[in-house]
Amino acid sequence: MEYSILVTFYEKIESTTKRLEMTDLLVTLFKKTPPTIIDKVVYLTQGRLYPEYVGIELGVAEKLALRALSMATGLSLEELEAELKRAGDIGVAAERALSRKKVKSLLDFVSSAQALARKLMVEEVYNTLDKVARATGEGAQDTKISLIASLLRHASPKEAKYLMRTITGRLRLGIADMTILDALAIAFCGGKDARSLVERAYNLSSDLGHVARVVSESGLEGLKYFKITIGRPIRPMLAERLTTAEEILEKLGGKCVAEYKYDGERIQAHKLSSNVILFSRRLENITHHYPDACEIIRNHVKAEEAIVEAECVAIDPDTGEMRPFQELMHRRRKYGIEEAIKEYPVSLFFFDCLYVDGQDLTNQPYPKRREVLMKILEPSERAMPATYRIIDRVDELEGFFEEAISEGCEGLVCKSLAPDSIYQAGARGWLWIKFKRSYQSKLVEPIDVTVVGAFWGKGKRAGKYGALLCAVYDPDADMFKTVCKVGSGFTDEDLEKIPGILQPYVIEHRHPRVDSKMKADVWFTPSVVIEIIGDEITLSPLHTAGLGVLKPDAGLAIRFPRFTGRWRFDKSPEDSTTVKELVEMYKMQLKKIET
Ligand code: ATP
Repeated sequence: MEYSILVTFYEKIESTTKRLEMTDLLVTLFKKTPPTIIDKVVYLTQGRLYPEYVGIELGVAEKLALRALSMATGLSLEELEAELKRAGDIGVAAERALSRKKVKSLLDFVSSAQALARKLMVEEVYNTLDKVARATGEGAQDTKISLIASLLRHASPKEAKYLMRTITGRLRLGIADMTILDALAIAFCGGKDARSLVERAYNLSSDLGHVARVVSESGLEGLKYFKITIGRPIRPMLAERLTTAEEILEKLGGKCVAEYKYDGERIQAHKLSSNVILFSRRLENITHHYPDACEIIRNHVKAEEAIVEAECVAIDPDTGEMRPFQELMHRRRKYGIEEAIKEYPVSLFFFDCLYVDGQDLTNQPYPKRREVLMKILEPSERAMPATYRIIDRVDELEGFFEEAISEGCEGLVCKSLAPDSIYQAGARGWLWIKFKRSYQSKLVEPIDVTVVGAFWGKGKRAGKYGALLCAVYDPDADMFKTVCKVGSGFTDEDLEKIPGILQPYVIEHRHPRVDSKMKADVWFTPSVVIEIIGDEITLSPLHTAGLGVLKPDAGLAIRFPRFTGRWRFDKSPEDSTTVKELVEMYKMQLKKIET
C-alpha cells in the first residue's frame, strides 16, 4: 500500500471536528488496507510502531531530524532551523523545505526526479522507522540520519510533513483506542454490535495491531482463539467509588471482602520461569525501574508462569512503615536506579491473580482467584497478600476503613464475593468499589481531569497560562466534556513548567473529542491528566459535563477548583474521572446537604 494513501487519511482526520467522521474515515482506511500490514497501519495512525507496552518509541530529536532533512533537500541546517522557527511545526517546515528543494546540477535533477518517481510504500516507511527507533550505540545518530534521509528523498512534500511528525513523535491525531475498536468492528465484524467482542480481545492483549490483524484475516471467528499471553499485558480492572460504608455494603449484596487500598503504584507482573516483566497501570513496561520488585516476584511467586497484580509501595527500611505515594515517584527514574533502590525500597502487596500455568483465571470469581493467589504466593516482609477482611456489617466496615487509614493506606477497595465476580479487564465496574478518605471541609473529593485548553494569564502571569480548561471523560460518547477552568493551586514552579509540559499537544482548533462551550485561547490534544479538588459540584450553563442529565441546558462544574499538585502522568486521558462518576458525586453531595 502506498504511503500517500495514509497521508491523505491523516489530512482528512486532522481537518475533522466530528468524532463520528473520524470513525468513518478509519473504516474506509482499514478496508483498503491489506491484512498483512493492518497492524502496522494501526500503530502508525497512532504515531507509534508497536503497542505502547513494548516501549519502543519514535522520538528522534528535532535537530537530528533537520539534519536528515538537510541531507535530503540540499538546504543548509541554518535555513531549515529558520524555517522551523517560522512554521513552529517540524512537519510544516519539512513540507515547505521539500517544495523548495535545491537542485545543484542536471544530474542531481535527474536522480531527484527518479527518486520521486518511486512511490513510498507503507511497509518501507514502517521498516525504516523501525530501524531508526532501534538504532543504538556508536554511530547510531549517523545511521538514523541516513535512514530518515533515504525516506525523505522519495517523499512528496505532504508525505514529508507526516513523516517528520511521526519520526519526532509528534503525529498527534488523537485517535483513541476505542475509536479504532469501533472502526474494526464495523469494517470486519459486521457492525458496531460486535464491538464488545473486539474489545474483549483488546482487553486481554492490549495490542490493537494484533486484534486488527486477527479480525481483518478471520473476522469474528478469529476472536474465539484469542488467548492471554505472558508478555502481553491485560488491561486493568478498575473500581467504582462510593462514599459511605452503608451504600457500599448495599451495592455488594450485604457482604464483601474489604482490602486495604495501598497508596503506591499498581503493578501487573508477568512471570515466565525466571523472567519477570512489570507493567504499570497504564501498561508501560516499568521492569527497569524496579529490579528489586522483579526479584521479589522471582523468589516469592511459586509458579512457572503467572500473571499477578500487586500494589508497589515505598516503605521505610528502618521501621517497615509505608511511605506516601510521592516518595515512590523517586523510583521512576532512568539513572541511579541502584541508589534509588536503597533510598526508597518497596514492598509488594498482592491483590489479584489472572493467569497461572496455562490457566486463564479472568473468568473465575474473585474468591477463587484469591485462593490461587494464596497458593502460589510465599509471603515475606516484602511480599504480602493485601490485608483483607470479610465484612457484612456497616460499623465493621467503617472500623476497618479507619484502621486502613491509620496504617497509611488511602482507604479500602471493597470487592464482590458473588459467583459472577470475574476480573473485568479494562472496565470500571461495581464489582470493586473504592472507599477513600473524604476531605472533611470539602464537598468534593479530588478528581482527575484532562487538560483540553488554556487561557493566557494577565498581570504576574502575563505570557504564561493563567488557567487551564479541564474536562472529564464520557466513555459512551468517547468525548472529553469540560468541567472547570483551573487557575489556583499552582506553585510558581508549576506555572513555569506548564507551557513546556503542554507544548507538544498544542493544536490549532478544538480537538474533535472535546466538547466545550468555552473558547480557549489555546487548544490541546487530550493528553495530560491532573488531579484537582474543589469546594463543591454545581450546576453550570458554561460546562458540558453531564449537560442535560440533571437539568436541561445545564452541565456540572467544580466550584473553586484547585490543582492538588499531583500530575497524573500515570493516567491516560481516558482514565480521567468520568461524567457518570461526577453525576453520582453530585447526587451524593445533594444527599449530604439534605441530611
Ligand atoms: P486512584 O486514583 O483512586 O488510585 P485509579 O483510577 O488509579 O484510582 P481505581 O481502580 O479507581 O484506580 O482504584 C483502584 C486502585 O487502587 C488500583 O488501580 C490500585 O492501584 C490501587 N489498589 C491499592 N490496593 C488495592 C487492592 N487491595 N485491590 C485493588 N486495587 C488496589
